[in-house]
Amino acid sequence: MTFNPIFITDPNEIPKPQNAQLVRTPPTGRLKAIITSHKLIACPTHYHARRTVPCGGPGNCPLCESGLKWRLHGYISILNTDNLAHQILEVPARTYDALAQWYKNFNTVRGLYIELTRPTQRPNGQIQLIVRRPQTIPESLPDPLPVQWMLCRIWGVPAPDQPPPETTPKNPPIHRPKKHLDNNGQETQNNNGKHTNDQSLTQALRQVMQATRVPE
Ligand SMILES: [Zn+2]
Repeated sequence: MTFNPIFITDPNEIPKPQNAQLVRTPPTGRLKAIITSHKLIACPTHYHARRTVPCGGPGNCPLCESGLKWRLHGYISILNTDNLAHQILEVPARTYDALAQWYKNFNTVRGLYIELTRPTQRPNGQIQLIVRRPQTIPESLPDPLPVQWMLCRIWGVPAPDQPPPETTPKNPPIHRPKKHLDNNGQETQNNNGKHTNDQSLTQALRQVMQATRVPE
């Protein structure tokens, strides 16, 4: 070998995993977690071939065309307080709506403590959600997972955007945002259109939701 090994002494500098477990509320027991996402992600999905897959939207989805109803699912990244795993939580529309109220009130869901149970103890039984808001967000709370990007990987579909910089690839390329000079000679930064993508996704979702929403 002609190179030196890489020793990392600060756990914070370990490259972040590009995969996270996708979890649902268990039929028995209690899922306890702190939300790390700022935003809730809602996504119309189908249950097809025994798994949840994304809906392509009106006119763009073979499963819709075959008559399969879609359902809205909500996705957030959570720190599971039982095993300290950073996971993606999938919740049905009703639970999404409850969390959405918190988002509307506080402009973020990050730091909320949640407990989810299924009182009927059935795999798809209705979920009981308890939410508590701490006075301050714990400083040690990890950055949110790139939920949309990870979901695309889990579903095996193209991601709407490249992974955000917080997921460090194995051999991180040196990347600096391109700087441009505008007419006044001032520097402007290229944001890679990320914000625009976010907005168009939200807009597309809203249209889909208005068009064909079905009750749980
Ligand atoms: Zn569909």
